[in-house]
Amino acid sequence: MNILVSYCFLGEPCRYDGCSRLDRQVIELHKAGHTLVPVCPEVLGGLDTPRAPAEVQADGRVITEDGEDVTDAYRAGAEAALKIAREHSCTVAVLKARSPSCGCGEIYDGSFTHTIKAGWGITARLLAEAGLRVMDEENLESWLYDPTAWPSEM
Ligand code: SF4
Repeated sequence: MNILVSYCFLGEPCRYDGCSRLDRQVIELHKAGHTLVPVCPEVLGGLDTPRAPAEVQADGRVITEDGEDVTDAYRAGAEAALKIAREHSCTVAVLKARSPSCGCGEIYDGSFTHTIKAGWGITARLLAEAGLRVMDEENLESWLYDPTAWPSEM
């Protein structure tokens, strides 16, 4: 199976802070014979690394901690990620929890106070709307052992 994954899981230092989030479970997917298709939507959208942290606001726009509206870049990155998913026939995506691009089912609330709310990152939502099964790394373990255990509905 071709699985779209957040690039930072593979050790790519593409996060806003210039770090990665290497994830052993995602690596296990590769060892199990799946083909991992890495994407970093924020880089694909033209943003620099490192970059200012950003959060999805109540109205759906993405605003940095400095007050810059980066919604267009986030949307462009989401479209690019979806295009790659389609090119590789990915039907599943494993994305980084709570990211404003990749978060699946919960994200930070836009106040930059580390407060979590129900919601989806820009890319995760687009992929889910396009029909991919989208989950974060925190759902991955249950999925590995039970393929029917999909993440919560949007
Ligand atoms: S946009 Fe997604 S892939 Fe890129 S650094 Fe953030 S969480 Fe990782």
